[in-house]
Amino acid sequence: MDRKHFIKTLALFPLASTAMKINELSSITAPFGNSEKMPVLFLGHGSPMNAIEENEFVTGFRTIGKDIQKPNAILCISAHWETRGTFVTAMDHPRTIHDFGGFPQALFDVQYPAPGSKDLANETKSIIKKTTVGLDEKWGLDHGAWSVIKHLYPNADIPVIQMSIDYTQPAQYHYDLAKELSSLRKKGVLIIGSGNMVHNLGKIAWDKMNTDNYAFDWAIEASTKMKKYILDNNHQQLINFKSQGTAFDLAIPSPEHYLPLLYTLALKSNNDHITLFNDKAVAGSLTMTSVKIG
Ligand code: ZN
Repeated sequence: MDRKHFIKTLALFPLASTAMKINELSSITAPFGNSEKMPVLFLGHGSPMNAIEENEFVTGFRTIGKDIQKPNAILCISAHWETRGTFVTAMDHPRTIHDFGGFPQALFDVQYPAPGSKDLANETKSIIKKTTVGLDEKWGLDHGAWSVIKHLYPNADIPVIQMSIDYTQPAQYHYDLAKELSSLRKKGVLIIGSGNMVHNLGKIAWDKMNTDNYAFDWAIEASTKMKKYILDNNHQQLINFKSQGTAFDLAIPSPEHYLPLLYTLALKSNNDHITLFNDKAVAGSLTMTSVKIG
């Protein structure tokens, strides 16, 4: 039904019903109208196998999905989409990208057919002043996004867009850029950063994959400091991660899995609470620690 016809139809309804229909109309014309302030999530995604396994981390994702209010849409900053410049996905039907190798066929068979949202892509482009955000029609949803979002919203009924990480820019740039997304929190948009705080695949202890909460000393040191800085709102120390010594250097050998954390912390306001969950290490050199802000 087009808008003109819809308004004509309204004239046929009695008053109370008309008021209801007008609300519906405004939600059609302004899909990201005002809402209760949404929380912001940093999700440690870990192995792609978390997409199809049953484990405590998956349970943690499901619980958080049930605990928070249902969003109108999701904007995800995933470690697995790095570009020169900043882009948002702007297609109606983002494809499920299987951006990994050497995993069972069952993982390649997963589809997460959540719709995209050109409206949210355009809104995101319009509110970011720090750079010109490009509209992308080629990417889709990589496993940093779908392997976790599928546990929060298994019905794939919430539109999802991704925002890329500009690999040419330093940490402070990403933190400042993320602050410009803050108005989306009051428009029913759930912003998710998906990465891992401690992420050194080169040092994975393969023989300790099934040992509960196994972490190398340096991983414990880095993780403990990161959590303290998060809980103390000491974001500058986290932005300056390259000056934090050997434990941080080992925990963050490359920044792409860490930067999504800075995107989420930048969106914290003074009265937001912080909750840590899935706070465990895997195979020595990876932490699944996740953060709920608000
Ligand atoms: Zn990853």
